[in-house]
Amino acid sequence: MTISGPEPNLPSDSPSSWPAKPTGRSIIAGRPGGASGGPPRGSREADLLSFHAVDPRTGRELEGVYQSATTAQVAEACEAAERAFRANSARPPEDRAALLERIADVIDASAPSLLALASSETGLSVERLTPELKRTTFNLREFAKVVRAGAWLRRVVNRHRDRTDHAAHPDLASLLKPLGPVGVFGASNFPLAYSTAGTDTSSALAAGCSVVVKGHPSHPGTGEVVAQSVAAAVQELGFDPGTFSFLHSGGGGPREAAVGLELVRHPAIRAIGFTGSCSGGMALAEAARTRMVEGASSEFAGGFGVEGPVADPIPVFAEMGSTNPVFILPGALRAMGDEVADAVYSSFTNSAGQMCTCPGLIFVAAGEDATRFVSLLAQRVRASEGQVMLSFRVREGYHRRILELIHTQGVRLLARGALAQESRGGGVGEAAGQPIAGVGVGSLPDRAALDSVAMLLHTTLDVFLTKGTTRDECFGPSTLIVECPSAEDMVRAARAVQGSLAASIYARVGGAIPPEDAALVHKLVALLERRVGRLVFDGVPTGVVPLEAMVHGGPFPATNMPQATAVGARAIERWCRPVCYQDWPAELSRDILGD
Ligand code: NAP
Repeated sequence: MTISGPEPNLPSDSPSSWPAKPTGRSIIAGRPGGASGGPPRGSREADLLSFHAVDPRTGRELEGVYQSATTAQVAEACEAAERAFRANSARPPEDRAALLERIADVIDASAPSLLALASSETGLSVERLTPELKRTTFNLREFAKVVRAGAWLRRVVNRHRDRTDHAAHPDLASLLKPLGPVGVFGASNFPLAYSTAGTDTSSALAAGCSVVVKGHPSHPGTGEVVAQSVAAAVQELGFDPGTFSFLHSGGGGPREAAVGLELVRHPAIRAIGFTGSCSGGMALAEAARTRMVEGASSEFAGGFGVEGPVADPIPVFAEMGSTNPVFILPGALRAMGDEVADAVYSSFTNSAGQMCTCPGLIFVAAGEDATRFVSLLAQRVRASEGQVMLSFRVREGYHRRILELIHTQGVRLLARGALAQESRGGGVGEAAGQPIAGVGVGSLPDRAALDSVAMLLHTTLDVFLTKGTTRDECFGPSTLIVECPSAEDMVRAARAVQGSLAASIYARVGGAIPPEDAALVHKLVALLERRVGRLVFDGVPTGVVPLEAMVHGGPFPATNMPQATAVGARAIERWCRPVCYQDWPAELSRDILGD
């Protein structure tokens, strides 16, 4: 069977003249389909590799056929990345900064069509995607500044002071050196900022690494168009074309997961960046930890020019599941409960709750203020309408988690939003001011469109401390209120929360912490700074600004590498390792230290 669809819009050899339209083919070292162009359309092999994007608003396939990369194409991209890494290592940092800026310019130039395409593939509105695009190109330009400034290299030089005891005081110089080619798995929930030219790719290019992206199957067109922009900038600035490649994969067949695994296992690849599920991140980390390479593949940093397989584990920087707890202290709850309820509602329903920093847990101390706060939140949720989710996989995951939570003894569903087609007479859930009662999950939407609804859940601290499922991420527009017997009990709650990307503490009233809450704030800060990458005061955890000081990381399960960040200047360091040079000859100073 031949899978029908429009003929691929095959571009000419010059990326600058590319139409910023997807061709359906992987972009390998600047060429659609790579050296061979990939399996010919209409061939059986091409049919087996073909897949479509789906419009989440309708559940229908979008125009255009995509081809998952073959094993040969994955290898071609990785080998080209290794060649490019070597060729690029002689180029000065200024060239890398210029490349990052040019990528940003080319992406900006394609904004209108790119935003429309991304919206059709993700169900995210153009209004939601426009700031994401700005943030993506801002981030590229910020990394360019960091590369120019050079401080990220962490160069340290110790000149020997005591010539009589040279062995104890040698000349030492250390600095960060790029690891080599990096594989990047783009995220489904941020098709621009955490995908093809997102923070993993831009930070790796900033470090001097070449990059091979494994596109996310739910937005292949968006990924490919951004890849065309990167490839165009690479070509314009005379970088080796292997500096960047993009591999399609999707369709659910055996090639979908195989493309990513082959990328992780290729001997040229020296590190992986990933954003997605815990199961996916940990599976890839395990594949990277246990990987064996052919010893004879001496062309690569992992090859040893010997016979037989050689163990060659590489690091995976995976950003995964995060609950982003919010602690609302009694003074703030009393003085600003209504405002905080509005802010928290917007934060956990934003983008259908599909942001890595959405607040999934809200801690309040029992009492009248808490009842009013919860009631306001319930009203907002009941008045909300269905929202489109990113993909079948994400929506099914959300519904599975909601069912798991409401079947947990001691967890109640307080309120749920309504789908557009549902009768809204009387709303769903209790009326404002009435005691909160269970409302039932209702009928979850069928597969025609990927709609889902906001859910507000409630439990007690005892249940939170004893039932592990209440402490896991629920990815989607829901949050779980955890009512603590007293404010002081929030300390027990903070001790139990999982590693997260962010946490919030609402404590200030009129610009200052009320004296009765001051000791509690200190205790929460001391606990939470060991659990999260970013601590927000008097604000919601959503909204990651890609400035130099930003940290987007945290202990497991937020990430598998608590010492790293995916955003901010330090993100570059993930793709490097420190190398020390001892008593180097003056003739090599320029090679080693760049001066
Ligand atoms: P995902 O299923 O983890 O997929 C992310 C990427 O990793 C895809 O490109 C996928 O490729 C690849 N992948 C996953 N498992 C793999 C495996 N075992 N072997 C090889 N490749 C693998 O994430 P998603 O599709 O973006 O969303 C699914 C769920 O992830 C969500 O429901 C949510 O729970 C979670 N999520 C969390 C965050 C967060 O920031 N906390 C962000 C996004 C998603 P293939 O599909 O081609 O195999």
